[in-house]
Amino acid sequence: MPQLPVEKPNHLLGIGDLPSIEQAVVLGIDTFDSSHPTRCARHGLLFSNSGNVKILQTSYKNAFEPIDAECTCIVCTKYTKAYIHHLFKAHEITGLTLATIHNLHFMVQLMNNYRQRILNGEI
Ligand SMILES: [Zn+2]
Repeated sequence: MPQLPVEKPNHLLGIGDLPSIEQAVVLGIDTFDSSHPTRCARHGLLFSNSGNVKILQTSYKNAFEPIDAECTCIVCTKYTKAYIHHLFKAHEITGLTLATIHNLHFMVQLMNNYRQRILNGEI
C-alpha cells in the first residue's frame, strides 16, 4: 500500500480474523486491534495451528488432548479439550476464561511468527 508511511507503524482497527491478518501483514500493517479472538473464545471457537476447534462439538467430550499440541499457553499445558468442553456444556464461566487465555496467547504467537518472518525477509 503506497499510501501508508513505511517509516511509521501502521495500525488496522477492527480486523482480527486470521486470513485477513495474514493479508494485511503482507500489505504493511504492523498492529491490529480487534475483539475477534475474545469473542470467538466466548462462543467456543478456539484457534489452533491445525484448524479451529469448536469446543462445544460432542466429538471433544472425550478428547483428552490439548487444544493445540504446539501451543505453549497455560491452558494447553494444563487442560484438555474434554475438560474445556465440559466447562462450556456446564455453562461454567471458567471455560470462557480458559478459552480466552488460549486465543489471546495464540494471537501473540501468531504475530511473533509474522515478526520473525519479516525479519528473515520472508514477507
Ligand atoms: Zn493454548
